[in-house]
Amino acid sequence: MPTAHVVGAGIAGLSAALALAEAGWQVIVWEMARHAGGRCRSYHDATLGCRIDNGNHLVLSGNRSVAAYLARAGAPGALVAAPAAHFPFVDLASGARWAVRINDGPLPWWPLAAARRPAGVGLGAFARSLPLLWAGAGATIADAVRPAGPALTRFWEPMSLAVMNLPPALASARLMRATVIEAWRDGRLCRPLFAPHGLGPALVEPALGALARHGATVRFGAQVKGLAASGRRVEALAVGGETVPLGPGDAVVLAVPPARMNALWPEARAPEEASSILNAHFRLAAPVAGPPLLGVTSARTQWIFVKGEVVSLTISAAGFVEGADTEENALLATLWAETRAALGLPPAVAPVAARLVHERRATFLQTPANAARRAQPLTALANLVLAGDHVATGLPATIEGAARSGETAARLLGSPGSQGHAASGSAG
Ligand SMILES: Cc1cc2nc3c(=O)[nH]c(=O)nc-3n(C[C@H](O)[C@H](O)[C@H](O)COP(=O)(O)OP(=O)(O)OC[C@H]3O[C@@H](n4cnc5c(N)ncnc54)[C@H](O)[C@@H]3O)c2cc1C
Repeated sequence: MPTAHVVGAGIAGLSAALALAEAGWQVIVWEMARHAGGRCRSYHDATLGCRIDNGNHLVLSGNRSVAAYLARAGAPGALVAAPAAHFPFVDLASGARWAVRINDGPLPWWPLAAARRPAGVGLGAFARSLPLLWAGAGATIADAVRPAGPALTRFWEPMSLAVMNLPPALASARLMRATVIEAWRDGRLCRPLFAPHGLGPALVEPALGALARHGATVRFGAQVKGLAASGRRVEALAVGGETVPLGPGDAVVLAVPPARMNALWPEARAPEEASSILNAHFRLAAPVAGPPLLGVTSARTQWIFVKGEVVSLTISAAGFVEGADTEENALLATLWAETRAALGLPPAVAPVAARLVHERRATFLQTPANAARRAQPLTALANLVLAGDHVATGLPATIEGAARSGETAARLLGSPGSQGHAASGSAG
């Protein structure tokens, strides 16, 4: 049976592998790390003494490729939806608290109701956000949402940081619009989804289990170092010191981050500039009460995730946040003070352990210029397809984008024996 070689076991690679296995391919996944999940994983942290996620991940109920991925993994209920699309916020400078409450249904009327909008943001200010819907390819979110004011600082900025991992002045309006259209327009589609036992148990382990049931092989500690091509086909992979020849019907999906993609397939010219994300994890002596997700403004902290006795917070686009590079203990003290104020915790509640995790290459820098440079999934080689959150999906670099790219790569390769995308004519 023809073999599909998937390089990279992040969400994009796992998504491609699941869809290819379902289509009847023999699948081999090559992963250089000792674990799957890539930028979306859980691990045991020795400092905290418990299992944590490398970073808090916000996934939404309208993320249809994530839903398809979980269905293929045999774990459709692994992520649990909040009962409503309500996003509570606190502004630490003024003490104001509000919730953005997105209504269910095809007509987004929620901005008409003051109680559903951010505090201090009038309907007129919101209406001036509409140009985001027809922003040009060169526009940033801040270009589209003018003039700058509370609608920008209390709504678009937290959303831009969460979705685009960039402040509105830099983030591509077009990519943000894709998320607004796919999810934020209807409360049924933008309920936050939570992984009750972490990202690994929800998104990674079920996929590995399903691949094993399909008879797929996942090889860890196996770095693909090169592709050998002849004519219009990949003929072999260099894996470690080994050469893995490809049969005539075999295919390759490269599902690796930009720099590694460019090293393996220079024609991709994937955007290598990156934006970082800083997460602080606080382990407490006992679980605390609080909303599972709380947005914070006028602070370094942007989003707080309460997970029982572990409280984790996110600083997206950390390279652009003043003070995010402060010495670790001083930064942890500041972030804990903000967290305590935001959650209204008494002074006696203090962390028993704390940890900063800085993912320096969390996503590619999603400016309009880099968005225009994303690699297309099809290549000049008939049996080589590209995937990954940085590939041109039309979506931001997110779990949904990664899952979509893997799904697309599998669709482009078609069924085993179709001799690759060029021969099958499925380039659309
Ligand atoms: C801290 C943090 C917070 C985030 N928050 C969110 C969020 O709230 N919501 C959201 O939707 N997204 C979020 N993201 C983004 C999301 O995690 C990524 O978009 C997604 O995980 C990317 O998946 P991927 O498969 O494209 O890439 P990766 O996860 O990077 O996977 C690529 C895999 O390829 C492997 N690899 C690389 N080179 C080779 C090689 N030569 N041979 C073999 N294997 C190789 C790597 O080891 C890796 O496992 C966040 C990311 C981070 C880091």
